Amino acid sequence: MEEFERKVKFMEPLRANSGTDFKSVPETDEGWMRTALAEAGQAREAGEVPVGAVIVLNGERLAAAHNHPIALHDPSAHAEMLAIRRAAVAVGNYRLPGTTLYVTLEPCLMCAGAILHARIDRLVFGAADPKNGAVVSLYRLFDDRRFNHAVSVTEGVLRDACGEILSGFFHEKRLASPV
Ligand code: ZN
Repeated sequence: MEEFERKVKFMEPLRANSGTDFKSVPETDEGWMRTALAEAGQAREAGEVPVGAVIVLNGERLAAAHNHPIALHDPSAHAEMLAIRRAAVAVGNYRLPGTTLYVTLEPCLMCAGAILHARIDRLVFGAADPKNGAVVSLYRLFDDRRFNHAVSVTEGVLRDACGEILSGFFHEKRLASPV
């Protein structure tokens, strides 16, 4: 009974935050996507292409990261790669079963590959990437059943906000250096 009361108490703030049903998956997804968007904002501040990612396990944030290849001189320093590395260190495991990766932009081939290697359960992304996307755009990597790991995909969460931060960034860049 005491245990039950403690749980109810713990859930109260969650219920208050979500407004209606605290179990609502879309609300939770949107909440985490906002965290990923905040990371994308940090990338923009640093002059990097604004993409952000967060990895969640059992409703808790394991790691968050933003795109950083220019400053780090590292072509692999995409938001997802950095978040995966940090999450793996956080749990002390090179695999991340039970986790969900939220990212503002559809993952590229490299990041989709890393998601498979990390055994991430679920991917949630915002905007599709027609130039580099390997989940629904150029390739549909997670539809290939030859891989021995299945990733469930939710796309389009806060799609507009995730796309606008990118288009705004490139628009400003074009204004700053007209060709
Ligand atoms: Zn990538």
